[in-house]
Amino acid sequence: MIKAQDIVESIADAFQFISYYHPKDFIDAVFTAYKKEQSLAAKDALAQILTNSKLCAIGKRPICQDTGIATIFVKIGQKCKFDFNNEALTDLLNEGVRLAYTNKNNPLRASVLADPASHRINTRDNTPAVIHFEFCSGTNLDIICAAKGGGSEAKSKLFMLNPSDSVADTIINAIPAMGAGWCPPGILGIGIGGTPEKALLLAKKSLMDSINIQHLITSGPQNKIEELRLEIYQRANELGIGAQGLGGLTTVLDVKILEYPTHAANLPVGLIPNCAATRHIHFKLDGSGPAKLIPPVLTDYPDVNWQPDEESAIRVNLDNLTKNDLSKWKMGERLLLTGHLLTGRDAAHKRLCDMIKKKEKLPVNLQNRVIYYVGPVDAVRSEVVGPAGPTTATRMDKFTSMILEETGLLAMIGKAERGQDAILAIKENRSAYLMGVGGAAYLVSKAIKKSKVVAFEELGMEAIYEFFVEDMPVTVAVDSQGNSIHNCGPKEWKVKIADLS
Ligand code: SF4
Repeated sequence: MIKAQDIVESIADAFQFISYYHPKDFIDAVFTAYKKEQSLAAKDALAQILTNSKLCAIGKRPICQDTGIATIFVKIGQKCKFDFNNEALTDLLNEGVRLAYTNKNNPLRASVLADPASHRINTRDNTPAVIHFEFCSGTNLDIICAAKGGGSEAKSKLFMLNPSDSVADTIINAIPAMGAGWCPPGILGIGIGGTPEKALLLAKKSLMDSINIQHLITSGPQNKIEELRLEIYQRANELGIGAQGLGGLTTVLDVKILEYPTHAANLPVGLIPNCAATRHIHFKLDGSGPAKLIPPVLTDYPDVNWQPDEESAIRVNLDNLTKNDLSKWKMGERLLLTGHLLTGRDAAHKRLCDMIKKKEKLPVNLQNRVIYYVGPVDAVRSEVVGPAGPTTATRMDKFTSMILEETGLLAMIGKAERGQDAILAIKENRSAYLMGVGGAAYLVSKAIKKSKVVAFEELGMEAIYEFFVEDMPVTVAVDSQGNSIHNCGPKEWKVKIADLS
């Protein structure tokens, strides 16, 4: 007899658990990539991801500021017995999500908006979850919980191929266009067959499996799907995109594929990547109580402890920064920022640009300031701010030209690449774009020493804050000449990898 309370408690525990514990197979795979990485920039990013992972496990705080949209796969054994009649299983699952995301000891960021096509109102507790039900034989409730970040979800693709088209070519051609907003290295989930919606569901589901490509490389493929996994894995890594798109040896840690019979005229292929914040857990309820989730032990984490690079990184004082200073920065240089910076992301940028168009006075002076694209998790206990990693910068591209030209803003910090228009605006305004590592949010938050809201308080995590930071690590991703590391790094490493092989 499975109790309602056990379901709620298990779901609440599971989403808390995956907010701060990476699966061990993911940690091992990132460490393998770290050991073999030859690109210094990519290796530094991997070191930050590994260090962040361990800090989160110790501090029980989220791996990433984007704590994801709750996704739950439920298999209901047809002989399952429940001790509840009136409550809907869906409501119990959502109650578990609500409790997890509003947990006072480790509040998770609520990112789910109701009325997505119109009002886009935050539901405040990250409900409703996206739930997929399936019936199977047996007496258990089999549950997988995943918290999927918006950056990697945004890169999902559906291809309705002709039956004779190549799945491998299609995926490989799609990867460069995904940019770095999905925070590689990660896992490619691929669903082949069924109908369009089934292919995407298979792609998502495939990501719930453990990483085992190294074992497959050693043992050799036993069937066509394993051959395809290996081909895509090898060709994807030959692209040279590398960690965070900086150029390097490892872009994907594994390729997962699930398939399903399909119509003779179709070959649907769904592609969904998983990111540096890979978060999922699998458990069963059999009536004996709530799920018992086994936490990792500290020895599961490699001895990688990222520290600011005192020797080769350039220290920058944000409080007396000038255009002249910026003009000396070169693409790929690592900086350690100290001083005051402002934050702002989608909603704040939209408001600022609307005010500029109406010639209204802005609530904050951006002259000679640096803005950080971030929406932090709420602080707890003695924290200044919760995990506060960068968000995808391309979403701010359409505002960049106006903000740079009209406000005197000096530079921006975000994650992943910028679009061509934004790069042109950066060049024309002799600005710069700096990038932080996506998926290292708790580590980044340690560099933030003071925080206060300075505008648009009602926007919650999207408000404009002023942070005082010390030795915040960033890389010059677009310099004032318009050189972009996301354009140059992968090209350079693609050639190097070809030479290495
Ligand atoms: S690691 Fe990157 S893509 Fe993943 S949740 Fe964090 S910011 Fe989003």
